[in-house]
Amino acid sequence: MRRKIFESEHEIFRDAFRAFLNKEVVPRRESFLNQGFVSKDVWLKAGEAGFLIPSAAESLGGLGLKDFRFEQIMAEEVGLCGESGFIPFLHNVIAAPYISRYGGPALQKECIPRAVSGEAIMGIALTEPNIGSDLAGMRTTAKVMNGYYLLNGTKTYISNGTIGSIFVVAARTGGQGKDGISLLAVEDRWDGFERGKPLKKMGMRSQDTAELIFDNVKVPKENLIGEAGRGFSYLMRGLAEERTIVAIWNHASAECAFRETLAYIKGRNVFGRPISSHQNTQFVMAGLRAELDIAQAFLDALVVDINDGNIDPVAASVAKLTCSELQGEVVDSCMQFFGGAGYMDEYPISRLYADARVTRIFAGTSEIMKMIIAKSMEL
Ligand SMILES: Cc1cc2nc3c(=O)[nH]c(=O)nc-3n(C[C@H](O)[C@H](O)[C@H](O)COP(=O)(O)OP(=O)(O)OC[C@H]3O[C@@H](n4cnc5c(N)ncnc54)[C@H](O)[C@@H]3O)c2cc1C
Repeated sequence: MRRKIFESEHEIFRDAFRAFLNKEVVPRRESFLNQGFVSKDVWLKAGEAGFLIPSAAESLGGLGLKDFRFEQIMAEEVGLCGESGFIPFLHNVIAAPYISRYGGPALQKECIPRAVSGEAIMGIALTEPNIGSDLAGMRTTAKVMNGYYLLNGTKTYISNGTIGSIFVVAARTGGQGKDGISLLAVEDRWDGFERGKPLKKMGMRSQDTAELIFDNVKVPKENLIGEAGRGFSYLMRGLAEERTIVAIWNHASAECAFRETLAYIKGRNVFGRPISSHQNTQFVMAGLRAELDIAQAFLDALVVDINDGNIDPVAASVAKLTCSELQGEVVDSCMQFFGGAGYMDEYPISRLYADARVTRIFAGTSEIMKMIIAKSMEL
């Protein structure tokens, strides 16, 4: 089905971003996988080319592009080329908007220009060793002092945890449950900020994940994002955008696996004829194509809603649930068509399979997405 949401400026942007990935990221993928992170020079080049936080105001170095389709295009292109290490939407959509949307002018001036240029890579730190799905129970504290917050606690599984230098950190500034949570912008150069060792993962091996430890970190009061105690309400909107962009990437990654497989099954013969000529292959591929197309239409509608200012957290959860589960189904079915070759590192389907497993877990697990959807039906 022909997609109807893009205009010529978006196609030009897509071509430019795809060319960037093909020049700066894809040829270096092996070395990034081996070292466990994407080299910072790629981020600097992305910043120079205008791909980092294009939504930021021009006065802060951005392009002022308040159009979610540009982020959609980047997440799609990252997925379509099978990339899981250089994921600019983590910086652009998942972390930076808390500062550009709710941060005071001084904080924005301090952080956003460096993030737009790629000098400072951003991440978000919510999860703790004992708290993941149930965020309201977090234990990291930010005690109000004279002119600063004293931050103590540990966050884990933090993406960009090794290469990042500005983190949006959720901490308890008072009270129990959701109401006592605030967001703070925390810099890695401050005393008391420590990183744990890079965590070894089954997939997404060029995307660095680490533990962050805060040991009496003095966070200037200007680095409080928005109002104290309102962190959870900011997260509700932010997480909806996070789930939408992650769903877009999941879908595109599934599409990448699908295309790889389509080429393979036409070229490999079994019992004297191509794998693609067997009815089982045709039915499986047709079923996946149908599911991918329907999900695409939903994602495009969601992006239109975001641009209209109607972000719906339940619809974002539907997208995240559907697209991450579909990605799992696609990589599993597709890998089967490769036979033993699909289990070998030299075939991209092997890495796509390993990378896909986590998408049903991070950005809110499938079970949490179902809880949100069920709650919307007052169940
Ligand atoms: C590679 C990677 C990158 C990540 N990046 C980040 C990051 O950048 N920043 C960040 O803050 N976090 C990050 N995370 C953490 C991620 O968001 C959490 O792992 C996720 O939210 C799940 O939390 P948990 O691991 O504590 O699992 P738990 O909350 O312990 O859940 C365990 C299982 O129980 C299920 N479960 C929980 N509650 C219920 C319930 N009420 N009913 C039914 N089932 C339930 C869950 O669905 C899950 O299957 C990352 C994780 C990974 C693996």
